[in-house]
Amino acid sequence: MKELICLGIESTAHTLGVGIVKGKKILANERSMYQTEEGGMIPSEVAEHHRKVKYDVLDKALATAKLSIEDIDVISFSQGPGLAPSLAAGMEFAKELAIKHKKPLVGVNHICAHLEIGRMITKAKDPVFVFVSGANTQIIAHEGGKYRIFGETLDIGLGNALDKFGRIVGLGFPAGPKIEELAKHGKLVELPYAVKGMDVAFSGIITKAESLYKKGTKVEDLCFSLQETCFAMLTEVTERAMAHCQKHEAILIGGVAANKRFCQMLDDMCKSRDSKFSPVPLQYCGDQGAMIAWQGLLVYTSCKNLPSIEDIDFNPKWRVDEVDTPWIK
Ligand code: AMP
Ligand code: MG
Repeated sequence: MKELICLGIESTAHTLGVGIVKGKKILANERSMYQTEEGGMIPSEVAEHHRKVKYDVLDKALATAKLSIEDIDVISFSQGPGLAPSLAAGMEFAKELAIKHKKPLVGVNHICAHLEIGRMITKAKDPVFVFVSGANTQIIAHEGGKYRIFGETLDIGLGNALDKFGRIVGLGFPAGPKIEELAKHGKLVELPYAVKGMDVAFSGIITKAESLYKKGTKVEDLCFSLQETCFAMLTEVTERAMAHCQKHEAILIGGVAANKRFCQMLDDMCKSRDSKFSPVPLQYCGDQGAMIAWQGLLVYTSCKNLPSIEDIDFNPKWRVDEVDTPWIK
């Protein structure tokens, strides 16, 4: 059977991405990220950015894949969750291409796409997913026919929490990599350890770190202690999710997966349980089109009764535990 080619469009937040896959082969993964001097994201400006760069990113992706749009079998796009104006820009682009070139269109869940590209790249079969990005912090596993969230942040995502601390002490954005560097020269000071059941919270920890900073505690010590405390909290919840679901693999996804100390803690925990830890390579950790293309293929080839193009809409609040997963047997 001919391997289908899918073109995926990502636009949930700061990135407009176009990826192309042929079966499990990633042929292209081009993107353009919205940036500002001040570091904030204004939703209408982000959508404006996506509309401005979309044809450039599409042309680059097709050139990299050495294909023309006529070679594409299916088009997919991120339906949610995300910022409404960005989602609208992505959907508008996807519909325009699908109608103009007479291609089938599928909308996919953005979080699910992060999980599935992680599984495809690491070859993990049935892992616990540690998903830690700027806005998201969730511990997820597949149970009873759906992805379920076993633990999550009760307030802000860990990446945003680290960036907030970075703003307070003047590290610039994104602060994660700088915190990791400074932490190498720090020692432990006590910060609140905030695990509640299977959930975690980061706001109180950042408030405490801010007050210690104002009282003169060294930034290096705070960086070291933030990492040790927050990563230990997430490692504990991940271990309990693995025990509860009897899973023997864990994978780390999201921008915070760049952190070596976090990977080491998860790896140590997995080794002590005779389990396997795999970080997802950085180019597939953050938002990009290849994950949307791969998820598009999974949905297109396994889901019956896909909606027709005029019935497809975006959903800014679409949770991953609401997604049917017929591609997982
Ligand atoms: P994403 O939302 O997936 O694009 O991830 C971006 C987030 O990852 C930002 O909040 C960064 O501060 C964070 N991040 C990037 N590199 C590191 C690192 N080495 N350690 C900790 N956090 C990081
Ligand atoms: Mg994302």
